Amino acid sequence: MAETIFSKIIRKEIPANIVHEDEHCLAFHDVAPQAPVHVLVIPKKPIVSLEQLEQDDASLLGHLWLTIQQVARQLELASDGYRVVVNCGKNGGQSVDHLHFHLLGGRALSWPPG
Ligand code: 5GP
Repeated sequence: MAETIFSKIIRKEIPANIVHEDEHCLAFHDVAPQAPVHVLVIPKKPIVSLEQLEQDDASLLGHLWLTIQQVARQLELASDGYRVVVNCGKNGGQSVDHLHFHLLGGRALSWPPG
């Protein structure tokens, strides 16, 4: 997998406002927030996108979802609700080729997305 800006954030070569870190994943505020709270949750394992997930990643994926839940609670999004978005590939609008989950909240979000 090609080097991305997120690999550099994982290695702490460039700064990020980190809200959670453990052995398997990292969560940090998006540099261009689209909502009052906009956090990215990423695996440390270099996975390009949802399309590249494999059977062996099943437990990692469960861990990522539980981390999203934990971060949402930590940032006090849980009572009013929030949205989790994964952009995949060109038509999905993915701009960084390292799997990431957008956690968005802090206001009512419109639907459908553009
Ligand atoms: P995508 O468009 O691939 O779904 O989302 C990539 C996200 O990464 C965008 O929301 C963008 O603002 C964010 N992003 C890109 N570069 C950086 C960076 O250097 N630091 C942080 N914190 N977020 C970034």
